[in-house]
Amino acid sequence: MSQNNQLSLLYEGKAKIIYQTEQSDQLIQYFKDEATAFNAEKKAVLSEKGILNNYISAAIMEYLAASGIKTHFIKRLDQRRQFIKRLTIIPIEVIIRNYAAGSLVKRLAFTEGALLTPPICEFCYKNDALKDPLINHDHMIALKIANSAQIAYIKEQALKINQHLINFFAQAGINLIDFKLEFGLDQKQQIILADDISPDSARLWDNQTKQKMDKDRFRQDLGNVVAFYREVAKRLQINFNQSKDEKA
Ligand code: 5GP
Repeated sequence: MSQNNQLSLLYEGKAKIIYQTEQSDQLIQYFKDEATAFNAEKKAVLSEKGILNNYISAAIMEYLAASGIKTHFIKRLDQRRQFIKRLTIIPIEVIIRNYAAGSLVKRLAFTEGALLTPPICEFCYKNDALKDPLINHDHMIALKIANSAQIAYIKEQALKINQHLINFFAQAGINLIDFKLEFGLDQKQQIILADDISPDSARLWDNQTKQKMDKDRFRQDLGNVVAFYREVAKRLQINFNQSKDEKA
């Protein structure tokens, strides 16, 4: 497939595919409908999820860029694809938590929904075989994942991004419970926000009803997963009138 410069497949993940392009410093990120949870023990195809995540993540990345955050996002190409800058991904997941949920509740017996002030920042090692374990500063140094200054910068950026995203979602009547970020290095060794931010990677609760509007609907068999992703997109006033794009 060489449509829009798309060349060979570089990497296929659980929810996305990365393709090379004719430009060595640009890649294409393709959003699939596949959903996985619990280290891929639970799997499903959720029709339209990839399209919604592509649009939602693009809107978030554009908002963050306008707020002064350096991101890998270049532009949305069509319903399922976006151009991104090629980075060397740093193999950690940075998790920011504003309210207790998910693994934090299981691990430390917080009450689900308890406010966390200040927000909690966690790091996990991106390693499927090890099931993405929690990792600390000294582990990252020992594994040569990043140096101290890089770790400090990543944490500072993640907390800044959190403040921007809290405001972004608050305008849509949504509480940002927690989310996961990934970062990469560009050719100048600058640390840049990578991957995507979507209801697959963030917990989003309606701020009135506390209804879950994110992937926990899939993880916990709550139903209407895609309908809630669509509601997130609607509240963020995302415009889908790109009918000339790829058909779902
Ligand atoms: P938890 O540690 O509670 O399972 O997840 C914390 C937050 O990070 C949640 O918003 C969750 O969706 C996100 N997260 C954690 N691990 C992953 C992952 O491997 N992929 C994605 N997309 N999100 C993750």
